[in-house]
Amino acid sequence: TPGIRPLVAGNWKMNGTSASLNELRAITHGFMHGLDADTEALVCVPATLVFRAAEIAASTPVRIGGEDCHAKESGAHTGDVSAEMLKDAGASHVIVGHSERRTDHGEDDAAVRAKAEAAWRAGLVAVICIGETRAERESGATLDILSRQIEGSVPASATPANAVIAYEPVWAIGTGLTPTVADVAEAHAHIRARLLERLGADAGKMRILYGGSVKPSNAVELLAIDNVDGALVGGASLKAADFLGIAEAYQ
Ligand code: PEP
Repeated sequence: TPGIRPLVAGNWKMNGTSASLNELRAITHGFMHGLDADTEALVCVPATLVFRAAEIAASTPVRIGGEDCHAKESGAHTGDVSAEMLKDAGASHVIVGHSERRTDHGEDDAAVRAKAEAAWRAGLVAVICIGETRAERESGATLDILSRQIEGSVPASATPANAVIAYEPVWAIGTGLTPTVADVAEAHAHIRARLLERLGADAGKMRILYGGSVKPSNAVELLAIDNVDGALVGGASLKAADFLGIAEAYQ
């Protein structure tokens, strides 16, 4: 989208130990040497790695994010991590509402909205995920589902500076399947229109990422689609060569 700086974001999910930080080092190296300086890079890592990842990425163009946060700042929530803790560990972003959180932990739109607000309270950018299931796609409900998720998950105070939207068809995540170019274009145009309606003209500058089986071989095609302002990359973000190969789509 004209006037929008693209964002290539990785999501390591529940993968990665100390040894994986070498991949992160290679990713920072790639973004410092040779990749288009206009492309922003983000790697969202498990909470256990945020602190060390942020040290590695400090003074490189790569930003570090968490993969989820609790809505509260602190308290009796054993095992949970707050947005403030992620910020303190060096994160600048946090993913909220990933379909795996919605499925594994029963997070609904209201919970996701509360997490986005928690991210802002802590000074993090929220990467808010939405997307239809296979059954919803097959029944023709995709655009309605996206409207409902935007209404429910995206707080009215979202701005291009504090929020990124990620469109991730659930059936395309980790499956190797991707929607057609026409289907991605339709979904992203719909999301843009709903955001403009909900948030006003500023939403014309909000980044809408595509996520779901993005890899180097399909990145050029997917990232060239209207209203696709970057990618959220799961599996292919674990290997520096693949993640950098996707970012090269912007060269
Ligand atoms: C994701 O987890 O956000 C994702 C898009 O995964 P993958 O790229 O592996 O499909």
